[in-house]
Amino acid sequence: MNSGTSALWVALAALGIGPGDEVIVPPMTFAATANTVVLQGGTPVFVDVDPDTLLIDAQLVKAAITPKTKAIAAVDYAGQMCDYEELGTVAKDAGVFLLYDACHALGGSLKGKPCGSWADLTVFSFHPVKPITTGEGGMIVTDRSDLSEKMMQFRNHGIDRDLHHRREKISWEYRITELGVNYRLTDIQCALGISQLEKLDAWIERRNEIALEYDRFFSTMPLAAPLKKKPDLVHAYHLYVVRIDFNRLGMSRRDAFTFLHENGVGVNVHYIPVHLHPYYKNHFNTAKGMCPVAEDAYEQILTVPVFPGMDQDDVRQVCLGFEKLLNQK
Ligand SMILES: *Cc1c(COP(=O)(O)O)cnc(C)c1O
Repeated sequence: MNSGTSALWVALAALGIGPGDEVIVPPMTFAATANTVVLQGGTPVFVDVDPDTLLIDAQLVKAAITPKTKAIAAVDYAGQMCDYEELGTVAKDAGVFLLYDACHALGGSLKGKPCGSWADLTVFSFHPVKPITTGEGGMIVTDRSDLSEKMMQFRNHGIDRDLHHRREKISWEYRITELGVNYRLTDIQCALGISQLEKLDAWIERRNEIALEYDRFFSTMPLAAPLKKKPDLVHAYHLYVVRIDFNRLGMSRRDAFTFLHENGVGVNVHYIPVHLHPYYKNHFNTAKGMCPVAEDAYEQILTVPVFPGMDQDDVRQVCLGFEKLLNQK
């Protein structure tokens, strides 16, 4: 697909999401997870996250299922995989689809099984900030041939047979049996993606080394607490997220953010909870208070730079910047 967003959209279309259907989504994600539900005519239902990991809470998911629920869209926030055994059971018991937005988690695994092998449909992004890139691009992984055929058709104008089929049959004929779009990825981008794929394991390893150094550093800083890493998984560390107790620090996050940038540390914030964006407030009546764990976390989180090209000096500079911030009193 030509982006993670179009991959999500195509996946939701293949699952038949439409008006009147509810899709459960976490608020701690990039807006595309919810936006694509709306673009399909469905209704996103925001379900809160676990305070330790900021991953969607399977028990709350279970409680939020209604007769209108058609799918659960789980997000591997920061690159850590959700509890797919539990979510899988919840989805199966309720008879709803489970869709994985794994845009952060390519290269990660859970209980020895790679991300992408746990679900009917798993979606990836190849945007430049993601684990590997094709400039822009996306991918859906599935072992369901019925869904895969539908998705290939939808991303290619709804045409029921591609050029290669026609060439084989020596025929010009094709039929439009469904509506479709052009969400194809170019061959040039695919070539880039394939060469990037060879580097993925080494890059994930480097991200984990950097994360380990941050873990060691932040364990000496009482006002800082990195998100918890669960056992039995390989974290892809798309993001390294730390909570800071800004009240005890006596400084607002905005000032701390500026301070860190002025000291050469390019922190960021992921994410403004999606249900707090004006579009969702205006069109879906969402409001503060709906997902208190995500809302509280949002006030405290900073994303610390992590990318495979960082060297030891870069890591040290980040730690020094935080040390300066956190030891001010
Ligand atoms: C990046 C991202 C997307 C969208 O991917 P694009 O390739 O930028 O369209 C969707 N969901 C999550 C969680 C993402 O991080």
